[in-house]
Amino acid sequence: MKQTADVVIVGGGCMGASVAHYLAARDVTDVILIEREPQLGTQSTGRNAGGFRHQFSDPANIALSKESIAVFADFEPAVGQAIDFWPDGYLFLLSSEASVHAFQRNVALQREHGVAVDWLSPADAAALCSGLDTTGVLGATYCGDDGITDPNGVTQGFARAAQALGVEIRRGEEVIGMTVTAGRVSAVQTSQGSIATYNVINAAGPWAREVGRMAGIEVPVVPERRHIFIAQPPGGGSWDDAPHRARMPESRLMVIDFESTFYFHREGGGLLFGMADPDEEAGFDTTVRWDFLPKVIDVAIKRLPALADAAVSHAWAGLYEMTPDHNPIIGAAPGVDGFYTIAGFSGHGFQHSPAAGRILADLVTGRDPGLDISSFAHDRFKAAATDGEHNIV
Ligand SMILES: Cc1cc2nc3c(=O)[nH]c(=O)nc-3n(C[C@H](O)[C@H](O)[C@H](O)COP(=O)(O)OP(=O)(O)OC[C@H]3O[C@@H](n4cnc5c(N)ncnc54)[C@H](O)[C@@H]3O)c2cc1C
Repeated sequence: MKQTADVVIVGGGCMGASVAHYLAARDVTDVILIEREPQLGTQSTGRNAGGFRHQFSDPANIALSKESIAVFADFEPAVGQAIDFWPDGYLFLLSSEASVHAFQRNVALQREHGVAVDWLSPADAAALCSGLDTTGVLGATYCGDDGITDPNGVTQGFARAAQALGVEIRRGEEVIGMTVTAGRVSAVQTSQGSIATYNVINAAGPWAREVGRMAGIEVPVVPERRHIFIAQPPGGGSWDDAPHRARMPESRLMVIDFESTFYFHREGGGLLFGMADPDEEAGFDTTVRWDFLPKVIDVAIKRLPALADAAVSHAWAGLYEMTPDHNPIIGAAPGVDGFYTIAGFSGHGFQHSPAAGRILADLVTGRDPGLDISSFAHDRFKAAATDGEHNIV
């Protein structure tokens, strides 16, 4: 087993796999990626809704989206892995004057950045989505270039492409400590031994704070449980079957009721839906709280009445990785040379993994990332409050 590496990546979710891929593409192949679970991508990455969108409020996130969605669109020919890419659109429903004003500003900003986003009346929104009840909706935004794709395919595709170029991927091994010598990372301790290295990438998702502390770095990332539920039509079958067809969207359009955070999209013959729980406290517990389901259904049936008699066939919970301003941390940590973070995407990270991984690979190899990434700087929290990203659910 190798005991030295130019770079050690901690974490094999979409972020770790993406950085590994882009480092290898820059001829940095003396890299070891370490994932403590038996498989890659089983934590936040394997539990997310697969959504991607251009509709953000921070221009830096719009830039990440444009680059990443272009990578998704070309993923199979470029990276060699099918990713079930469905650009069927994202529809945000707005029911308060404050949201309407904020989204009017967002739409102007997104258009400035070349995103084709439309402002819709409630009737236009209803026409896009069979079964949608728009009572109380004041306006909506729609981008037909947004959509959903497969997080597992993206992670496996990046990982296999990196491995093919020489990156070593170790599963079932945990990083348990680090050595910092004269202000620079010098070694990583794992459950299997020690690896001498001068560069460590913290891609530990919701555990980024714990991994940062191993090097004496404070990474302000807090885990927060989020649920996803899958609903089947009453009596089984598919929502495409004749009795239900008019009560559900036909396409894989993602619909987000911004005020309540209830969201849904078609998932095969079923429907995937979720909502944030305002009473959820920070923590690593991912047990499904079935007592939360009735609260979601109460909200959900006001927008999608067909859910009133649906059968919820299964559910899971995963962790959002929240930062104080809901933007990620991408880059070098001040104070310890050779320690980099790519974490804290606050619930919208999967879709930004291609651009984020590319940017970090550029920073590690001393290249200009070509984007203003000050919104993602490690040390921004010490300064005055940052504006951050407002468009999260
Ligand atoms: C319910 C839900 C819905 C979501 N929906 C969307 C969506 O629609 N679109 C979107 O873009 N994003 C979405 N997200 C967010 C997205 O899933 C995350 O932003 C993204 O997956 C983060 O990827 P990651 O690689 O940083 O983290 P992870 O996938 O969690 O990977 C981190 C890895 O590090 C490993 N690790 C941690 N500590 C150690 C250690 N000490 N040693 C070794 N390995 C370690 C973990 O085992 C884990 O596999 C959603 C998240 C949830 C929970």
